[in-house]
Amino acid sequence: MIEKRIEELIEILNKASYEYYTLDKPTITDQEYDRYMQELIKLEEKHPELKKENSPTTRVGGEVIDSFNKVTHEIPMLSLSNVFNESDILSFHQRVQKEIPNPKYVVELKIDGLSVSLLYKNGKLIRGATRGDGVIGEDITHNVKTIKSIPLTISKPIDIEVRGEIYMSKVALESLNEQRRYNNQEEFANPRNAAAGSVRQLDSKIAASRNLDCFIYHLPNPEDYNIHSHYEALKFMKELGFVVNSNIKKVDSIDELLEYINYWTNNRETLPYEIDGIVIKLDDINGQKKLGYTVKYPKWATAYKFPAMEVITKLKDIKFSVGRTGAVTPNAILEPVRLMGSVISAATLHNEDYVKEKGFKIGDMVYIKKAGDVIPEVVKPLVERRTGNEKDFKMTTVCPICGSDLVRRENESAYYCVNPYCDAKHIEGLIHYASRDALNMDGFGEKIVEDFYNIGFLRSIIDYYYLYKHKETLMELEGFGEKSITNLLDGIEKSKEESLEKLLFALGIRHVGKKTAKILSKYYKTMDNLINASLEELINIKDIGKIIAKSVYEFFKEEKNIELINKLKKLNVNMKYLGETEIENENFKNKTFVLTGTLEKLTREEAKQRIENNGGNVTGSVSKKTDVVITGKDPGSKYKKAVELGITIWNEDEFLNNLF
Ligand code: NAD
Repeated sequence: MIEKRIEELIEILNKASYEYYTLDKPTITDQEYDRYMQELIKLEEKHPELKKENSPTTRVGGEVIDSFNKVTHEIPMLSLSNVFNESDILSFHQRVQKEIPNPKYVVELKIDGLSVSLLYKNGKLIRGATRGDGVIGEDITHNVKTIKSIPLTISKPIDIEVRGEIYMSKVALESLNEQRRYNNQEEFANPRNAAAGSVRQLDSKIAASRNLDCFIYHLPNPEDYNIHSHYEALKFMKELGFVVNSNIKKVDSIDELLEYINYWTNNRETLPYEIDGIVIKLDDINGQKKLGYTVKYPKWATAYKFPAMEVITKLKDIKFSVGRTGAVTPNAILEPVRLMGSVISAATLHNEDYVKEKGFKIGDMVYIKKAGDVIPEVVKPLVERRTGNEKDFKMTTVCPICGSDLVRRENESAYYCVNPYCDAKHIEGLIHYASRDALNMDGFGEKIVEDFYNIGFLRSIIDYYYLYKHKETLMELEGFGEKSITNLLDGIEKSKEESLEKLLFALGIRHVGKKTAKILSKYYKTMDNLINASLEELINIKDIGKIIAKSVYEFFKEEKNIELINKLKKLNVNMKYLGETEIENENFKNKTFVLTGTLEKLTREEAKQRIENNGGNVTGSVSKKTDVVITGKDPGSKYKKAVELGITIWNEDEFLNNLF
């Protein structure tokens, strides 16, 4: 099984490499390629005995086309290892630190082009070559000479080899593709393939017409010029007349390095050329030598790849679920894929109309993005990647839980299970009642509610308040003890004090979301006032439309709902609006936060979101104006600075406890 997967991955990666490097025409995205490569690396690490000789994990990608003269690189031109998140970066730093105490790094933009070696004799350009397979490259001197940013003569009459990246600016790529569209030629998928396709041409007129550019970033033999750090090498090459990227930076700490990454993650769109990550290089040349190389990449450098805003994965299946209103929703079951810090394996497809409008078929490759940074959204299928084995989607006509026929209401896209005894609806309703935005009963997640429902102790809302009668039995259940049951019961007691809007939302009245519940509570102040409201009065409240008003009015006209409220009153559940201050989190409101180190339970983006949702704001560096520094694993200089300035410091648990 594992061996088969390894062989499969090698085949996928080798085919992709051929299409990418030799044909300059990729058929899968870089993120997909990187994902398959990471899977293969992990499998080979776990099962070294299954590692194949032809594995792409040990080869620099790229083949040499016969029509070019071959060039041997005396010092191999290698690739770079990849890191994808903060914790990978810290592991890289730890590996370096083991050999080199107090390492200093240079950080650079990772230009999306192809690498080139340039050889000068007596200060004159005599040869330009591609990386090829790392040892043998292609002679592209005739094309390199057409690139204006590559000097034909440098400022000193010396012999030297330099390396850098040939790339095509966004504007140049756009106009090239426009021209190709006009001529009915296929467009280039990305600037790297466009640049590579341009320099790997026998006729130099083509390269000359393509407006290529070049940044130089590597000096293979620094010691020949008495240079001992990478940063010095960059300065030296600039003095010789090469174009060195002006955004390269020497950083003093990991925090500064992360800030650089953060800055360019958010601002890369402003650059006139594409970058696909940040390269981190150890500055000290002696240190570089000490760390050395693997067959594929230097151990003293690594490339951080930007997270994809959108990823591609397979839509394996579409399954149906039932919500508390009875609405039956189709859900995408996806091949798990990492996107902006979390692994996504399922996402809602909303309703039948959405699936049909987008044209999803089961088995499709689909684009996924995160809507509002949190909820995954299945954007569209990649029709051009269909194999013919995809299956058409068919909306179910029966409830997936109780099997009863579904009903589609007029003017609505959703189908409903109208069986009042359907278990799924009850369970969802109970989960909703206890959820954070409703009565906020700590600990009552999906699993517990379902378990308690199935054993028969929690069949209706009122049952929550009688769970204490089953305490002894509940404590005996697998996975529960006295402490956890006591906590659950305490949570129920505490929830009785929640403000009216939370109870209104918890009751699950159709069309009454959080916002409407708040408007009604503010207006009527007590449950009794709301119960006695006339339909006209409800309609006249600002922001309450006819449909909502009617739904609220009808809810309180139903005998069983009034009975339920009377029972809740007897149980001392609060029926009053408690005012504005209840929902503001003073621990965060108008305060400035700084995050440092790796959090274990949340990604940085999620942490930032939660702080902002609670009224705080997040900045990148610690100053006197900072109110709280939140520290994760391996905090850097920001932590030290916070201690020096006497700023409040929270660890991750303290942070989570302070959140709503
Ligand atoms: P890489 O692109 O991940 O990193 C190494 C390269 O980065 C260097 O060779 C150099 O050309 C470039 N680079 C840019 N700026 C640099 C800088 N400032 N300093 C140093 N180097 C810099 O590795 P690779 O081996 O060239 O290519 C592998 C990558 O290519 C994969 O991770 C994938 O993203 C892509 N790829 C995609 C497909 C596909 O089918 N879509 C197939 C093969 C490879």
